[in-house]
Amino acid sequence: MKDFIWKLIHNYHKVGNWFKRIPNWQDKAICECGEVEIMDHILTECRLNKSKDIWQEAEKIWKENNKNFKWTKPDANILRELGAVKLKERDKIAPNWINERYIEIVAETTWMI
Ligand SMILES: [Zn+2]
Repeated sequence: MKDFIWKLIHNYHKVGNWFKRIPNWQDKAICECGEVEIMDHILTECRLNKSKDIWQEAEKIWKENNKNFKWTKPDANILRELGAVKLKERDKIAPNWINERYIEIVAETTWMI
């Protein structure tokens, strides 16, 4: 999983624009939904790949176990900086174990997508 996240941070996954440079493979750059198939799209935006459903399940798990800190649906920026996430609720910073739980749920969910 560390390798996956490292590639995500550095845009090394072979998706979207990577295929645009290869003759006769340009069509592989486009998702079935019509958008350029970059990792941000695959992980947080695509309406066809069920990522929305998977994130809703992650949110449900979070809400069952965390009453004091709201779920924050990760966007591309949060995914790229996941290791440094510090949740905050009304100026109250979450304790480390809460942040670690969030990071674990988000990392595992990203991996499943
Ligand atoms: Zn799509």
